[in-house]
Amino acid sequence: MSSNIRLTRRCHVCGVSFVAKTTVTKNCSDRCAKKAYKLKIKNQKVYASESETSSQIPYVAIEISAKSYLSIKEAALLYGVSEKTIRRKIARKEMPIIRFSKRIVLIKKEFENLLRIET
Ligand SMILES: [Zn+2]
Repeated sequence: MSSNIRLTRRCHVCGVSFVAKTTVTKNCSDRCAKKAYKLKIKNQKVYASESETSSQIPYVAIEISAKSYLSIKEAALLYGVSEKTIRRKIARKEMPIIRFSKRIVLIKKEFENLLRIET
């Protein structure tokens, strides 16, 4: 569909001014339109992934709250820190653990009592 409309627009991708022939044109070229499309698809995927993750957390949180011993992964999720931080605390003996096997470590959930509370 062509028209006699000529509008000066600024490209959403590269920022260059161009003459648009429709009122909905957002990009200066096919290359920029493809870039914009790829970015849109990427953002949709990121959003879908984030919403999926946020819908999983409450279920996991309920599951964790019912346990008295946690895995490193669960402890990291519960306290909002990385697994590396948990492993570091274990190495410094700042967390009471039970060594289930050579590789499996369980953390006693009520370890908060042992943490120093800063005021
Ligand atoms: Zn452009």
